[in-house]
Amino acid sequence: MNNKDFRIAVFDTKPYDRFFFEEENKKYGFDITYFEAKLRPRTANLTAGFDAVCAFVNDELDEQVMEQLHKNGVKLVAMRCAGYNNVNLRAACKFGIQVVRVPQYSPYAVAEYALALLMTLNRKVHRAYNRVREGNFSIGGLMGFDLRGKTIGVIGTGKIGRTFIGLLRGFGLRVLAYDPYPNPEHARELNFEYVPLETVFRESDIISLHCPLTPENHHMINDETIAMMKKGIVLINTSRGRLIHSAALVNGLKNGRIGAAGLDVYEEETDYFFEDRSDRAVLDDILARLMTFPNVIVSSHQAFFTAEAERNIAGTTMKSFGDFAAGRTLEDSICLHCDGQKQCPGRKPGDPCPVHPR
Ligand code: NAD
Repeated sequence: MNNKDFRIAVFDTKPYDRFFFEEENKKYGFDITYFEAKLRPRTANLTAGFDAVCAFVNDELDEQVMEQLHKNGVKLVAMRCAGYNNVNLRAACKFGIQVVRVPQYSPYAVAEYALALLMTLNRKVHRAYNRVREGNFSIGGLMGFDLRGKTIGVIGTGKIGRTFIGLLRGFGLRVLAYDPYPNPEHARELNFEYVPLETVFRESDIISLHCPLTPENHHMINDETIAMMKKGIVLINTSRGRLIHSAALVNGLKNGRIGAAGLDVYEEETDYFFEDRSDRAVLDDILARLMTFPNVIVSSHQAFFTAEAERNIAGTTMKSFGDFAAGRTLEDSICLHCDGQKQCPGRKPGDPCPVHPR
């Protein structure tokens, strides 16, 4: 298909997304329409007449949406992010829709941001900034701790987790890690130790989450696991909000078990993050409560947000569209079959994948 006839609907866009996509599209010449709306059952009708859809972290690609995309003739969904917990892959398979993502755009962006949250919270830079602006030059209450000699637990040692551990070299921290697929070579190279998850919870002074959200680890930080942690632990989450049971986190902050929390993601972030809601009340009581703690920083899912990452996201996504339009194999496809994880409904083990024949 000619690129200029390849119609793409990009959902949940802001001016900065459009800028990088338009820059990249100079190479391709696709027919792109940008929607501000998120892709969800209510907006899926907008995809009529498009060949492909591009979606983001808070779009809802459930079975109903996949069915509507299929009815509208959409053949490809490109997630412009790494995580795909919001995509029903079974439904995509069922309706013959290919799904691609951007598996890597800048692990540095997220890892550096996780470190920024940790450093800011520990040394109370966010509070110092506000105090001085008000003419308050006192330092009472701003005391932090030396990182040197402390233990940090990293949950998930993929691209971002490993980059984060790499950044920690020089701080003199002891690094513990948990990953269901440990890689001893990485542990040797980066000088960290794989331990059971419970050991991470029990022995760490700081915990940083770098694993994907899966049905197995939904709410992995909950009342029970918080109770195992050292008093005053610093918790950093730049991964996915639903890894943490937020009500349990509020309890942990209230009883002092959690000493500080840096949250770039929140389990019910969809209606808030990325939007200017400064003229409205926060109706989510747990989010509102979290925002009141002086030892909590909530940011709006911005860990990925560097110029390099945006450029790479646009580049990889456009390449996927280009490959698809030209009938080439998609490098970054995600499929239950191809991943070899589970069996698609109604298909026998060993049957070829109808979506991604190889
Ligand atoms: P990756 O696939 O390279 O690594 C993920 C690692 O987590 C893998 O080693 C995997 O084995 C491990 N893992 C899987 N299940 C686990 C579990 N239950 N407990 C511990 N480890 C587990 O992914 P990545 O590029 O490092 O990204 C990690 C996550 O970061 C993404 O899934 C996404 O949710 C999040 N992310 C957030 C932002 C942001 O802007 N805040 C941006 C990009 C990615």
